[in-house]
Amino acid sequence: MHATQAMQLVDIGANLTHSSFREDLESVLASARQHGVATIVVTGTSVAESRRAAELAAAHGLFATAGVHPHHARECDAATIPALRELARQSGVVAVGECGLDFNRNYSPHPDQEKWFVAQVELAAELGKPLFLHSRDAHPRFAEILRHHRVGKAVAHCFTGESAELRAYLDLGLYIGITGWICDERRGRHLLELVKEIPGDRLLLETDSPYLTPRDLHPQPRARRNEPAFLPHIARTVARARGEPVEDLAAATTRNAREFFGLS
Ligand SMILES: [Zn+2]
Repeated sequence: MHATQAMQLVDIGANLTHSSFREDLESVLASARQHGVATIVVTGTSVAESRRAAELAAAHGLFATAGVHPHHARECDAATIPALRELARQSGVVAVGECGLDFNRNYSPHPDQEKWFVAQVELAAELGKPLFLHSRDAHPRFAEILRHHRVGKAVAHCFTGESAELRAYLDLGLYIGITGWICDERRGRHLLELVKEIPGDRLLLETDSPYLTPRDLHPQPRARRNEPAFLPHIARTVARARGEPVEDLAAATTRNAREFFGLS
């Protein structure tokens, strides 16, 4: 417990504009700080949500991303990229995304997903900002697009894939974001092995709050809502799997996050 309290972690992906945080955001942030998670990057998933993420970040001393999730690709139009460009120029907005491909839910047609993914990849290059990437069941197409566009600085957020996919991302120079998915004994077991293959200078941690509540958290939180305060729990699981002290993992992932997003 004492070691945990001393650890400082960065939650690189929290959906704090989600309605489940509307009533008690202040106490959620206070609890996060108590657990060593004072630095949080709020995820933007549409133009409207990215605007709210930027506002929330500015109001609470946090950071935000600006982008359109592949689920919302079908809602994009000519105004989308100019709006994201304006948001991404704000000082607290540290990455373009969340963007990418989701061939699991398929809420948007694949051609729309690809078109708006590429547009955001180009925007990030234009602005010199890193990319916050989402990929679900989209390997190898996702990696092909990144390779074709020579994507530089990017994180594959919430990595849940298999070995070949991880290898492709590492070869492309990507950072890898690990969530509480690794705590899921039903579908995250393979990650306990795979996280050992991620170089220590490419690893990032995130909760993806309010989603992906660690299933081995006892007792389970009210309404099973995930929060940034649970990031130390994820860090301990990742450290155990990698066979390294959690303090070392915390120091490395925090350094990585600061460098990756250029956090001050
Ligand atoms: Zn995602």
